[in-house]
Amino acid sequence: MGVPPAPTKLVISIVGAGLGGLAAALCLGRLGHRVTVFEAAREANDIGAGIQVPPNVTRLLVEWGLQAELEGIAVKPRAASWRRYDSGALVGALDTEKIEAKYGVPHYNVHRGDLHRMMLNAANAVADVKTNARVLSVNLDAYQQAKTVDNRTRRQRPSVTLVDGQVFHSDLVIGADGIKSVTRNVVCGPVESYIGLHANSAHRAIVPVGEMLKDAELKELVESMHVTCWMGPGRNVVGYCISGGKDYNLVFSCPCPQDDMKRESWSIPSSREAIRAEYIGWDNRIQKLIDLVSTTSRWRLVDRPIIERWVHPAGVVLLGDACHPLLPYGGQGAAMAMEDAAVLAALLAHIKSYAELPCLLDTYVDLRKPRCSYIQEISRNNGRMFHLLDGPEQVERDKMLGGIAEAEDR
Ligand code: FAD
Repeated sequence: MGVPPAPTKLVISIVGAGLGGLAAALCLGRLGHRVTVFEAAREANDIGAGIQVPPNVTRLLVEWGLQAELEGIAVKPRAASWRRYDSGALVGALDTEKIEAKYGVPHYNVHRGDLHRMMLNAANAVADVKTNARVLSVNLDAYQQAKTVDNRTRRQRPSVTLVDGQVFHSDLVIGADGIKSVTRNVVCGPVESYIGLHANSAHRAIVPVGEMLKDAELKELVESMHVTCWMGPGRNVVGYCISGGKDYNLVFSCPCPQDDMKRESWSIPSSREAIRAEYIGWDNRIQKLIDLVSTTSRWRLVDRPIIERWVHPAGVVLLGDACHPLLPYGGQGAAMAMEDAAVLAALLAHIKSYAELPCLLDTYVDLRKPRCSYIQEISRNNGRMFHLLDGPEQVERDKMLGGIAEAEDR
């Protein structure tokens, strides 16, 4: 896309090539900034399962010229629907056409690996993405050179040190290194890894749609093209098609085993039997879906308060999960990280001198913190709402969800 270059070009290091880091690399690289991304993983991998692309992300991907590629990897659901856990009875449904009419672009579902690859290809064209490059620490070094490019004296300059000892200096370091961020240490000090661990974890599995089509009930589920959420006491299950309709993504969110309360990971090994034990008495379709699970891993959920300080004025800034991890109940984790990247790039599109950087970074925080706090609270509330015990609150919830479609019509 034809993006006018920024008046002043910065040397930027991004720690982490997740969806947030790659979005930042793409946007900032296109502005002419000299961007290097350091990613710990050996290569872009397929870890992860389904991920939602809500309209706020679709709009960004369209703006970045990636609509055709997105459509090639995505599934466009027809509705979001909510069901009871035991009978599977439909509680409410929201037609995605209404979402599209309201926001101007569709909601999609994708495999995280596909979206990640798409973003990596796009970022590679304008940035240097180094894999197998784990950052050991981000440091603020005394700056020896008397004058910067815009003739101002700078006392400190950020650098990243890799585990192999290489050091890279830059004007700006962006910490997009996720929940266990090392960049965060220089901005606000270390965060104990177990702080904010939620009482739940989510078993994730992908089952082949071909197998589902052999069963009449599951076939109906596939053909409905819904993002379906079964809600029950202390647990929920979300299912939807991904990978161009070849696979069905399942997320089983339920209490974490007591002996595992402090482990923080995306991919703790799990089993079909562990899932089955959590969903006794649930809808027959859930039992059949569990039968189809061959491999599964468990994601330890984190509900950490938003980090107070996101910026160090010497030129270090955080984005995405590094500063605002989200529970998965709002489908906005990747969305918030990618929005952060877009906002940061929009501000750095007009930078005229290095002296403006601290103020622009503060503006980024002012713009993003309230929105991310709001979305974090929505995700939390959705989780509470999905997991209500049967009783008056659940009856109210079901009435509200039953009325959602009509409310959208007004
Ligand atoms: P992340 O996506 O966590 O990316 C952070 C990146 O930084 C990672 O690539 C990591 O390897 C890298 N990194 C960390 N530390 C260092 C370091 N010291 N040096 C260099 N690189 C470093 N969400 C879902 O909804 N569904 C899923 O199936 C799903 N699977 C996931 C699988 C993985 C492996 C990861 C990392 C995340 C997954 N997520 C999933 C989470 C989701 O992608 C993020 O919550 C969201 O996209 C926010 O992204 P982020 O860029 O802030 O952080």
